Amino acid sequence: MPAKKKIIKKEAEQEVKEEVVVEAAEPVAEEPVVEETPIEETMPQPRRSVAFIGSECYPFVKTGGLGDVMYALPKALIRQNCDVKVILPRYACIKEQFQEKMVYVGAFDMDLCSDGRSFYVGIMEYVWDGVVYDFIDNEEFFSWGKPYTNLVDDIPKFCYFAKAALAALNYMNWTPDIIHCHDWQAALVPVFQRAFFADTPVGRAKSILTIHNLRFQGIYNIPTFKYWTNLPEYMFDYSVMKQGYEDANMLKGGLACCDMITTVSNTYAGEIQTPFFGENLDAHLRYHSGKLYGIVNGIDCDIWDANTDKLLPANYTAANVIEQKKKNKLELQKAFGLEEDENKMVIGLISRLTNQKGLDLITQIFHQVIDGNTQFVLLGTGDGEYEDAFRSYENTYKGTVCSNIMYDEGRAHQIYAASDALLVPSLFEPCGLTQLIAMRYGTVPIVRETGGLKDTVEPYNEFENTGNGFTFDRYEAWLLLDAINRAKTLYFENRKGWDEMVVRDMEKDVSWEVSAKQYRNLYLQLRP
Ligand code: ADP
Repeated sequence: MPAKKKIIKKEAEQEVKEEVVVEAAEPVAEEPVVEETPIEETMPQPRRSVAFIGSECYPFVKTGGLGDVMYALPKALIRQNCDVKVILPRYACIKEQFQEKMVYVGAFDMDLCSDGRSFYVGIMEYVWDGVVYDFIDNEEFFSWGKPYTNLVDDIPKFCYFAKAALAALNYMNWTPDIIHCHDWQAALVPVFQRAFFADTPVGRAKSILTIHNLRFQGIYNIPTFKYWTNLPEYMFDYSVMKQGYEDANMLKGGLACCDMITTVSNTYAGEIQTPFFGENLDAHLRYHSGKLYGIVNGIDCDIWDANTDKLLPANYTAANVIEQKKKNKLELQKAFGLEEDENKMVIGLISRLTNQKGLDLITQIFHQVIDGNTQFVLLGTGDGEYEDAFRSYENTYKGTVCSNIMYDEGRAHQIYAASDALLVPSLFEPCGLTQLIAMRYGTVPIVRETGGLKDTVEPYNEFENTGNGFTFDRYEAWLLLDAINRAKTLYFENRKGWDEMVVRDMEKDVSWEVSAKQYRNLYLQLRP
């Protein structure tokens, strides 16, 4: 039965692992809000069912690209004839407008800790755009005002979440063909699946673990993990979760136990097998490289559509981008207190302010980038040292630099639409979404050739008039400056060439369709 049609009410007839105690709580017989998506007749066959398990998903909760992927990929998979459920924590910080539409499916108690402590698992469901979202409800773990706090709290939280997600699938009597887990927060799912759920319905599902960012792994001391998971001793072997002398690593365990590993670009799939990018897991990844694949992310082209984007002062398509972008630029300059001049080149930066994003390169050359004809707009939050640096630039260059030290979706849309170029000089970048959104909005990306940036931005070739942006290879500030200067040269000296690149960028396919097909093929590889 397709999961999107109605709430599945099951308790008595379902098989669950002995240790998962299921209380016979009666689900409230209430229908969720269902907004139907038309099913295309020419869907690829066979149909596949997939449970996405992860810790964030736009628009409920998002701190970065993971939230975008958890939203957009399920939607794209539905168009590839997949039946998708997304399992998420029910964080208290999810907006009331969503909380109030969630429908209670059921609840049970689940054994978790080595001393036999058990925890409440509630399931709240929300159906939207053909995707079923099941939220794992537990106030003890998810009542903070934000999804992540510190490892002391986060480790137990995601031990609980991984096991609760599997138990919830059994509880709902929904056994997917594939369990698709995302990042370290869901990495224990394949570990628990092997240790405790092998003889239950959900044990039949094949598992995929996607690495969105290898830097975050969920590492803590072994006794704490043993307490919060009650996992058998063999899971703390060096080949599975153990790391160093006394720690265990959630991501490492997931990578060992899952049936397939994917990461979000081909280049990153290769990079993470090297010591520089491998974050101490390169040898582990090399060992498991036979099941490692890279599939580049896309973006949601309904949300990111300059022609219908309600947040923009002037909408546009590739046909009128050159004129309309100027209007967006003038509005942005006015709103942000910049000198209003459509001929200035506006360079944007929308980013978490952390070392990963190459900000130290930008701060080294910042004063050389700003000249009489160039303006700079930042949107981001993060490390204090960078926030302070950009605040001071705004002070120094009043009317030329605007630093928005905040997280603001609306401003993000406006900056993508109004900027001429967008900087993404990352030290490493698994995929990167900002360069994709930039291209979709006719904004030329200036990127370092790493990870997904390398796979998605074709360097400008002045002789053949091809390419989508400006790139540089080694992580050196002067190479970034050189790339920015090459962009400026084209912008100020060959506007026709620049405008043609803007149109090429807008016409580039950055949607999820191609990637969703690739994911589907992997699903079929695992369950033909
Ligand atoms: P990461 O996941 O490493 O932060 P990505 O490029 O994959 O980087 O995704 C970043 C996403 O977050 C993009 O959708 C970008 O527009 C958005 N974003 C980043 N910083 C902000 C901000 N300060 N305000 C609004 N959106 C932001």
